[in-house]
Parts: sequence; C-alpha cells; structure tokens
Amino acid sequence: MIVNKIFSWQESIWESLLAQPANLPHAMLFIGPAGTGKGLFADQLAARLLCESAQGSQPACGICDGCHLLATDNHPDFRKITLESDVEEEEGAEKSTAKSKKKSAAPAMQIKIDQIRALEDFVFVGSHRQGKRVVVINPADAMNVAATNSLLKILEEPPSSVYFLLVSSNSKRLLPTLRSRCRQMLFGIPNVVVASAWLKAEGVREPEQLLGLAGGAPLKALALKEEGSAAVVDEAIEPLYRPPLEPIALAAHWEALRKKNPGFLLEHLIDAVQKWLYDLTRVRNGSTPRYLPDSQKELLTVAPKISVARLNRCYADLLKIRATARHPLNELLFLEDLAARCAAALSLPRS
Ligand SMILES: [Zn+2]
Repeated sequence: MIVNKIFSWQESIWESLLAQPANLPHAMLFIGPAGTGKGLFADQLAARLLCESAQGSQPACGICDGCHLLATDNHPDFRKITLESDVEEEEGAEKSTAKSKKKSAAPAMQIKIDQIRALEDFVFVGSHRQGKRVVVINPADAMNVAATNSLLKILEEPPSSVYFLLVSSNSKRLLPTLRSRCRQMLFGIPNVVVASAWLKAEGVREPEQLLGLAGGAPLKALALKEEGSAAVVDEAIEPLYRPPLEPIALAAHWEALRKKNPGFLLEHLIDAVQKWLYDLTRVRNGSTPRYLPDSQKELLTVAPKISVARLNRCYADLLKIRATARHPLNELLFLEDLAARCAAALSLPRS
C-alpha cells in the first residue's frame, strides 16, 4: 500500500473528512466513476486511521508500528473484503507484459456472505492494538443480497471504534438500505487540467487524448497507456522471431509503429529490443527469460540458431546508439541502422 499519496483532486475531500477526525462517520461510501482513485483513497484513509502517530488531516506517517503492520499485511485491526478468485493468481512475472497479466482464474463475480460473516468476530471481539479498526469493502456493489443483509446487521450496532469504508463505481447496484446507512461521498471526474498535469508527471506525453478515451478518469487513462505500451512492445519485437531479417522491411515496420503510437519513442524501441536480446541470450544459455516470461517457447525457436557473441555485440552497440535516440538526425536512417544491427546479430551462421 502506498502511504502518503492523496491525489491532488481528492485533497478537498480528504481535508473535509479529517477536519475533525473524532467526528468521522463510521460507515462511509465512496462512489463515482471507475478510475478516479476512490479505492486508493479508501486505502489511504484506512492507513491514516490505523496510523499511531498522524494528527488531524496528516496522512499516515508510514513509519510507526501501525503503519508498518499495515504495509506488511499484518495489521490485526484491518480487513479488506474484495473479490476473491478461486485459484491463486500466478506469480513470478518480474516484469509483467500484457500477456502475463492474464490470471489463471477469473476473479469471482460476487462478494459472498461468508466473507461478510467472517467480519463478525473481527468487529465485535475488540481491537488488538487498543485503537481503531477498519474494514474496506471494494467493490461494495459486488456484495450479493445475502452478503449485504449480513453487513446491514453488523452496521446496526457497530462498536464506536470500527470504521467501514465502502467503495463503489456502480452504486446503483447497492441496496438503498445500505446506501442510507452510509455517509455517501461523490468522487467525480477531476478537472481536465488537474488530471492532465498528473498524467504528465506520470510520463504520459499526450494526456488529453487518453483522458478522452478514459472518460476523464485519470487512473483509467494511465492504465490504457500501460496496456497500450505493452501491446506496442509486443508488436515491435514480433518480427525478430523470424530471422533472417530484412533490415529495410524491419525499419519500415518500426516507422509505421512509431507513427501509429507517437508515445512509443525510439528509446522505448531500443529498450524493447535490448530486453528481447537479453532474454534471447538467457534462453540460449539454458535460463528462463527475465523480461518476457510468456515468450520462452518462441525465444527457444530462435535461440539455438544464433551466435551468443553476435548477440552480445549487438547489445553493446545498442547501448551506444541509445544516446542518440532522443535526437536522431534522420529517424528512418536511425531505424535502418538499428534494423541492420539486429539483422546482423540474428543472421544464421554459414555452414
Ligand atoms: Zn503511522
């Protein structure tokens, strides 16, 4: 959990909620469109409530025992109820690509009554650390009717030290009785200037376009960028799997890709090719790929045919030309040079 991170467009809600922390409502419902950061806000508020040092509207300190327990998923006075998948998510992908983000099981569609019933002991038994206890339910609209009714029963007479933070991007699906039990807070779409500034700081070059696609929701816009760039990387390196390479055709492929995706810079291309070469060398040496864990099979089809010395030379060349990638005199010539180096590295040894 990221501590100390309140998005600029949420600061006023944060300040108004924590103006008098003692008067904070015990059941809060954060509603609004997906991708505006409501869930992270709930996490931040939970952290603030469990922090044993922060005062007033200060965020969680990040260093006290309470913060430490929360950061290591060991806080005994915190529960997070969310959609659980039936099978554990696959782990081990150090660098995730769009492909490796696929999970081995789809997450459950509903929050079930057992998950809420399990809260009863937590809520009514008492605090472990003599402080507040916090329950985050996200997405709250995924609770089925039985789960909602079970929660309503708990909300009838909750102990005063327990806080419920519910998050929903689809609040129409919530039972009216639940909505009326909670203090509702609307997280709207932030002002486009504020959202664009944030996205720029996150490295998005043309934030307005992505914000348009994301309906103005900044986190959704950022996710689109990340998904997009993973797909572009895949497309950029795809021809490398089919040596021998024709440099002019490869350069034209990259040039078209760059035109279609202006945010995909030459340095991103070099980075992608370097990672591919790195993984190819690893696979050639009998290891598993580090950056492209899903592509081991494809890498294995290329690896036995090539010379490691040539790959290493190409990798070192790329480190050198990377410096000029930002301002090449002629982009197409630059791409042709890069393609020629890759073609040489992947050329098949003469028998
Ligand atoms: Zn703290």
